[in-house]
Amino acid sequence: MSWDVSAVRRQFPFYANLEHPLHYLDSAATAQMHAAAFEAMGAHDIHARSNVLRGNHRLAEAATLAYEAARASVARFLNASAAEEIVFTSGCTAAINLVAGALAHSLQAGDEILVSLAEHHSNFLPWQRLRERGVLLRALPLDAVGCIDFSRLEVQLGNRCRLIALTHASNVTGALTSAADIAAVVAAARAVGARVLLDGAQRVQHGPVDVRQLGVDFYAFSGHKCFGPTGIGVLWGRREALAELPPFMTGGGMVGRVAIDESSWAEPPRRFEAGTPPIAQAVGLGAVLEWMLALPWERIRAHEEALLLRLLAGLMAIPGVALFGPANAADRLPVIALRLATHHSHDVCQVLDSRGVAVRGGHHCAQLLHRALGVEETVRASLALYSDADDVDALLAALHEAARVLA
Ligand code: PLP
Repeated sequence: MSWDVSAVRRQFPFYANLEHPLHYLDSAATAQMHAAAFEAMGAHDIHARSNVLRGNHRLAEAATLAYEAARASVARFLNASAAEEIVFTSGCTAAINLVAGALAHSLQAGDEILVSLAEHHSNFLPWQRLRERGVLLRALPLDAVGCIDFSRLEVQLGNRCRLIALTHASNVTGALTSAADIAAVVAAARAVGARVLLDGAQRVQHGPVDVRQLGVDFYAFSGHKCFGPTGIGVLWGRREALAELPPFMTGGGMVGRVAIDESSWAEPPRRFEAGTPPIAQAVGLGAVLEWMLALPWERIRAHEEALLLRLLAGLMAIPGVALFGPANAADRLPVIALRLATHHSHDVCQVLDSRGVAVRGGHHCAQLLHRALGVEETVRASLALYSDADDVDALLAALHEAARVLA
């Protein structure tokens, strides 16, 4: 049985309410939101709106139960050992900043952090800022098509490395970091006593993740990229990895005892959730992850891969198109970066938009990756489980048109 796109589109209010035909091929930036999230957030704010973890009445209790149920859903989605390993943040960027900011307290001058040149700025700049503390930032280079060159791991990993932060999937080339490469990174990190963080922002949209199998210490992602609300994200941390971190932000809800000179902190995850969290958004994310957990991912992957191959074949037939990323569809997500001759990506996007095709142009917050590929910016098309062959064909036709109009 094949994946039924029309049936899934009926579950996305975006598709039911489109006033003009639009081929939305920018889900890597923000995916459309599933009805389960709309409904769960609406119902929560009508029936259980209250603050969490510190109320004494029935609404506060209902809100706390819903918030904690959402945490349990995230734990199931990631196959975490316990719900206490899930920290809610405002997004993937906030989750990575949390780890960098908390780790900063224990870093010494001369300690090292290892990243790669494929990282989104959200998984590069928080680590680069640690240079202010004398921390050395090292980076794995990329190969000719823009994939992380893991053959350089041994050379780049110093004895004083404290953390390795890598993307699980590139937001530009779609390249997946393989389980084998992650295992090699984890083994190398253990040998020098370093922690490993994976940026899962792009990967989560394409199915549940098994953090225990990956063997890493931290995993970060955003709700809006996996069909959930904006303003909510997740940091998963292995119990012992979270326990050794001090708070990043301080405020209500994350303390033990407060005294005038000194205070004690709550245990994780509350230690890292200062202030009123995004409660309804967490509930919406929990609902959408439960929906995702029940999906037939093998069929969806086959569908996405078939669309990716159709797109790649069509792109290769357009004169002047240059493609980046792995040649093998199994090694990548359905995310494609391309150049159309020497035309600026914003000009290409404008022509595409006028034909009802929404893609993104620019450096996609990955300037280092683009520079390594010898370009400043690209056009990026990203497919999701609600994309279909019409979307792909409309993009190809619009690119032919752009090549003609911009020539
Ligand atoms: N990491 C990657 C790979 C991304 O693609 C993005 C967003 O595009 C982020 C991190 C940051 O996510 P957010 O802006 O939702 O915090």
